[in-house]
Amino acid sequence: MNLLPWHAEHWARLQARRQRDALPHALLLCGAAGLGKRAFAQRFVQGLLCSESTDGDPCGRCRSCLLVAAGTHPDVIPLSFGLRKDGVMRSEIVVDQIRELSARLAMRSQFGGWQVATIDPADAMNPAAANALLKTLEEPATQTMLILLGDAPWRLPQTIRSRCQRIEFHLPAAAEALAWLQSEGVRDAATALDAAGGNPGLARAWAQEGALDRRLEVRKDLAALAAGRGQPLDVVKRWLDNEPAQRLWFAAQAAADEIKARSAERGGPLASAMDVEALGHWYGAVNRTREGLRGPLRGDLLLLELLAQWR
Ligand SMILES: [Zn+2]
Repeated sequence: MNLLPWHAEHWARLQARRQRDALPHALLLCGAAGLGKRAFAQRFVQGLLCSESTDGDPCGRCRSCLLVAAGTHPDVIPLSFGLRKDGVMRSEIVVDQIRELSARLAMRSQFGGWQVATIDPADAMNPAAANALLKTLEEPATQTMLILLGDAPWRLPQTIRSRCQRIEFHLPAAAEALAWLQSEGVRDAATALDAAGGNPGLARAWAQEGALDRRLEVRKDLAALAAGRGQPLDVVKRWLDNEPAQRLWFAAQAAADEIKARSAERGGPLASAMDVEALGHWYGAVNRTREGLRGPLRGDLLLLELLAQWR
């Protein structure tokens, strides 16, 4: 498991703390999905438990490394969504799970080294669970490490955040992201990176699953509607059938590009009849619609209302 290039600095800093014997008892890894937080955590845990590690890098071959990689190391406790009594997966992490975790961390490790618990996504803990975790954070046992992962850390109570060493993953510089995508064999790396708003992990995933074709289609649809060709209803149906939220992300990008072209006094690529102000409003409406898709309202009506405003 190679270190991602934009992880190098965080990695070096964390390993320096480890060498000084100054590792915190709790880490909070946060940042947008697609930047490799989980890979970072896994590598760190593997290095921490590895019996042959070099400067914190896991050897990848010892018993510990193999167990961590297989997800069966007895001193690594992963916590995520549990099942309800009826077998349905919960959408939050609940207090009983945290209590069970704390009880386990209070016992001695099986291999005599560190005990590590990961809570992922930590921002899915409900208030009672977060409160229970606070006690564990306040009275850490020696050689125990809690690793919290979350795409939306602002949902965590401040009391939790302040007790964790925070590692924040940001979008890497475009050149670094591009070089990585190319080394991963992603074709159209620049387009993919642009589509994913500069997020390399997302760009790779999207390039592999055909999102770039979807992006082109969205732009074609919008250009056709602006020219008075095609029916909004047909577009709604196609968008709704296949990754509607992603298509709306691309629609917002297309509107932003249209605005950019206008400010450079060029004709926009979609040849929209709207002025810059109306395009700005529509851009906002696209993002609200994307949020709205997660709510109780009918997606087809939301999309139709949006496309009816497009000129
Ligand atoms: Zn090892």
